[in-house]
Amino acid sequence: MKAKHKLRQVIDSLYCRGQVTNEEAYTRLVLQCARAGDVEEAKRLEAHMELHSYQPTNTFLENRLLHLYAKAGKLSYARNLFDKMPKRDIFSWNAMLSAYAKSGSIEDLKAVFSQMPFRDSVSYNTVIAGFASKSCSHEALEIFLRMQEDGFEPSDYTHVSALNACAQLLDLRRGKQIHGKIVVRNLGGNAFVWNSLTDMYAKCGEIDKARWLFNQMNNKNVVSWNLMISGYLRNGQPGKCIDLFHEMQVLGLRPDDVTVSNVLAAYFQIGCIDEADKLFCVIREKDKVCWTTMIVGYAQHGKEEDALRLFGEMLLEDVRPDCFTVSSVVSSCAKLATLHHGQVVHGKAVLLGVDDDLQVSSALVDMYCKCGVTNDAQIAFNMMSVRNVVSWNSMINGYAQNGQDLEALNLYEKMLQENLKPDGFTFVAVLCACIHTGLFEHGQTYFNSISELHGLTPSLDHYACMVNLLGRSGEIDKAVDLIKSMPHGPNSLIWSTLLSVCAVKGDIKHGEMAARCLFELEPLNAGPYIMLSNMYAACGRWEEVASIRSLMKNKNAKKFAAYSWIEIDNKVHKFVSEDRTHPETEIIYKELRRLIKKLQEAGFTPNTKLVLHDVREEDKFESICYHSEKLALAFGLIKRPHGVTPIRIMKNIRVCGDCHVFMKFVSKIIGRPIIVRDSNRFHHFEGGKCSCKDYW
Ligand code: ZN
Ligand code: ZN
Repeated sequence: MKAKHKLRQVIDSLYCRGQVTNEEAYTRLVLQCARAGDVEEAKRLEAHMELHSYQPTNTFLENRLLHLYAKAGKLSYARNLFDKMPKRDIFSWNAMLSAYAKSGSIEDLKAVFSQMPFRDSVSYNTVIAGFASKSCSHEALEIFLRMQEDGFEPSDYTHVSALNACAQLLDLRRGKQIHGKIVVRNLGGNAFVWNSLTDMYAKCGEIDKARWLFNQMNNKNVVSWNLMISGYLRNGQPGKCIDLFHEMQVLGLRPDDVTVSNVLAAYFQIGCIDEADKLFCVIREKDKVCWTTMIVGYAQHGKEEDALRLFGEMLLEDVRPDCFTVSSVVSSCAKLATLHHGQVVHGKAVLLGVDDDLQVSSALVDMYCKCGVTNDAQIAFNMMSVRNVVSWNSMINGYAQNGQDLEALNLYEKMLQENLKPDGFTFVAVLCACIHTGLFEHGQTYFNSISELHGLTPSLDHYACMVNLLGRSGEIDKAVDLIKSMPHGPNSLIWSTLLSVCAVKGDIKHGEMAARCLFELEPLNAGPYIMLSNMYAACGRWEEVASIRSLMKNKNAKKFAAYSWIEIDNKVHKFVSEDRTHPETEIIYKELRRLIKKLQEAGFTPNTKLVLHDVREEDKFESICYHSEKLALAFGLIKRPHGVTPIRIMKNIRVCGDCHVFMKFVSKIIGRPIIVRDSNRFHHFEGGKCSCKDYW
């Protein structure tokens, strides 16, 4: 700043004395401006020359000015001067090229390059680097080829740009050709070329070749290590990433932010979350990438609460999260169905100015739907300035999951009106809505339209929806015909759908068929055994119940651990069936017994039929009364005894038949809505009815 100020004082006094009128004086001052990097003073000199109608005898002075403008990114200054120049030489053209390459205006770069009456190797280098830096990799390689045809030797610098272009295009063949030339000409002594070669091989999937080069390198820097570490990560070898990281530490090399975030991601890939935690704790200056890697890692490994906690810490540390971080945190809230946290994160997103980002706003719509508040989801959806098929799917699916099936179908029609192309996920949501509303014929029409109108191939999910739809409309025979017609044959999803629909309809014949297929496909899954034995039990066929029970025992089939959770005061409380681990167990059981008593007075009897036969009647009663969702409900009512806001409960598997009836009764007796989100859908219980219309 001081140097610039002094320079200006000198020039001002020279102007005043009228001493700047000759080539020598101008040249000296331009060089001084260049040294001081004072582009505005240089512009003043240019104006001074023009005012005094001074014409330089050669291009030197103007080229110096051009270079100065180009370097400072003053594109308009450079272009203005360039257009005025009576004579241009190779230096003038190259200066103009580098101005455009630096500013990234690719079209102008192309135009100037094609207008050049003569070129040298600098011109080629500048253009290739300009293209490569703007991901115009095809163009970069094209010019690289032309450069050699025109008889110019590429430099190390050119090779780096060309190799980066190959890596971007995953063009291993051309990358290898360039490598060959580098070897033949005995070039590539510098670390940049080696790094680009390593990176090119790693990105093109030749990780062993990359590693070989890395071994040969004797001037590795931290960039070389990072390229190799991220190469292993990209090629699905997180273990080797971690090995390299340890090697780095043994050698006493200091990892940087890039190293750490790659190694954190590697720990998450191999599931060593504790190791990731440890590493994260020792990093002194954590950057945005590190925080985001940890948050996304937690979210992807079912540690949503940790993801939320870390997001809070990140904000406290004054590190600004980006769209990727925020959307991943919003998704964590959706998974936990914690509306309160979701709303807080939404607020943060607004403050950070990322709420309108497509990824974030789609996640918000999804979060509100998963929390059962479709009104808020609809508001977020309407506020979106851009929507893609993912956003539409979130909203359509949200409606379908929350029992607002007609809204789902209306929105789908609106999506078509806006000329958006639905995808496979859209149709799953649409078919689900048809199943719930009993619009069986509509469902069939939508199913047919998948291939006939939209040119998509129906997936297993779509077939499963149709089996469900046909079954529920009482056409189990047609459902079986559809299964037989499936081009790639049915899988366990299809059979378990048929089995549950048979259970609803009491069709033992087809239920047995579906169950037997499942016993073969998934011998260790207890679900089908239990379902079939319940079907037998329901019609008093106890012998069959016993034989299925022993079959299940012989196969050593296991039940999924069922659990439910509820969020109270920003904390998630988890319960399993007959849970007695919660600190407030005594009060919870007391409340639940009080509720059951009240319900029994109102005519509710627990449906012990669903419990297997050889359990004593009072044990059956006990086990069914203390299912996890009932415990969560009792806890919710203790903590929120008054008010009209719904009690929200989440369950990891489907809600059982008895709990479903129980929730309906409770919603009526206490005059308060209850929302249960199970693995399949939402149940909004209100006034003794459920939004699923008893189909789930
Ligand atoms: Zn239950
Ligand atoms: Zn329901």
